[in-house]
Amino acid sequence: MESGMEEIPVKVAVRIRPLLSKEVLHNHQVCVRLVPNTQQIIIGKDRVFTFDFVFGKNSTQEEVYTVCIKPLLVSLTEGYNATVFAYGQTGSGKTYTIGGGHIASVAEDEEGIIPRAIQELFQRISENRNIDFHVKVSYIEVYKEELRDLLDLENSVKELHIREDDKGNTVIVGAKELQVECADEVMSLLENGNAARHTGTTQINEHSSRSHAIFTISICQKWSAESQKSNAAAQNASWKSADMTASKFHFVDLAGSGRVTKTGNTGEHFKESIQINSDLLALENVISALGDPKRKSVHVPYRDAKITRILKDSLGGNARTVMITCISPSSSDLDESLNSLKYANRAK
Ligand code: ADP
Ligand code: MG
Repeated sequence: MESGMEEIPVKVAVRIRPLLSKEVLHNHQVCVRLVPNTQQIIIGKDRVFTFDFVFGKNSTQEEVYTVCIKPLLVSLTEGYNATVFAYGQTGSGKTYTIGGGHIASVAEDEEGIIPRAIQELFQRISENRNIDFHVKVSYIEVYKEELRDLLDLENSVKELHIREDDKGNTVIVGAKELQVECADEVMSLLENGNAARHTGTTQINEHSSRSHAIFTISICQKWSAESQKSNAAAQNASWKSADMTASKFHFVDLAGSGRVTKTGNTGEHFKESIQINSDLLALENVISALGDPKRKSVHVPYRDAKITRILKDSLGGNARTVMITCISPSSSDLDESLNSLKYANRAK
């Protein structure tokens, strides 16, 4: 990881969901559209934005996965860390896109990013007999700067601490990391964790949209003893010197963005919103510091929020990062959508 540092810019995607049936019912108008054959989006009358990838209302889950995530999954198996974020206001499609909902009730072609990545990872593992793989998963929720373990609900309020080990890897001390052997096993852990996200408090959906959820797949790979002797490729592998390589992929469903002033946003909600905005600002500051050409001399403010501390070793350097900004097409959400596009634009 240390040598030959190649700085890889954060890729930014925007996905516009279709109008929901209740929006159609209430005659909502569409205020965002794609410019055909470009990577551009027009919002309102004439504000134009350009991104690395744009997905319109007819984009499929498969398309989003193949274009944005598959290259990261490949680089994970090559030993690099990766992170994908879903950003956007509540109701814009973050959980749908990431795949953090109720998996069992989702049709196969509607599966989001996480289930697809899991399936592809185990597919690749089964095709690669020369390498011994160990796969572990963890699932953490960050709510008002407190960490909750979504894989250990009996003890979910235990103390979790973010530490950096001597190699610069971020570890969450106290978090459950479960070793897994197959895709189905991961899917059921994910499903349980997702359910926990929704039932953690009395205010069911509110809570999940006000917390960040970080699902992490960590892999450790080692050439099997046999193939190390016989296989020339093993001798040439870039990570041969270490004999073993470890890498991880974070899938992050961020808390809903949105202005603090929206009606009904009082008391506890007001405080939550302030916290969320401060986290999202911290993330933006980290991403833009990483994208700064003078980066060597720029301070990257990872320490400003739990979310950026947790992701520190998987943002920047030669880690691959994609931010998917989710947008509602409805004119009633124009202000929030415009804000989200501006945020995404600053991350480029
Ligand atoms: P968020 O997590 O940002 O609050 P959700 O992912 O829960 O938003 O999406 C809100 C609603 O919109 C859900 O009913 C979801 O199924 C639907 N939805 C979101 N994106 C799409 C899409 N691309 N295609 C179809 N339905 C979508
Ligand atoms: Mg959600």
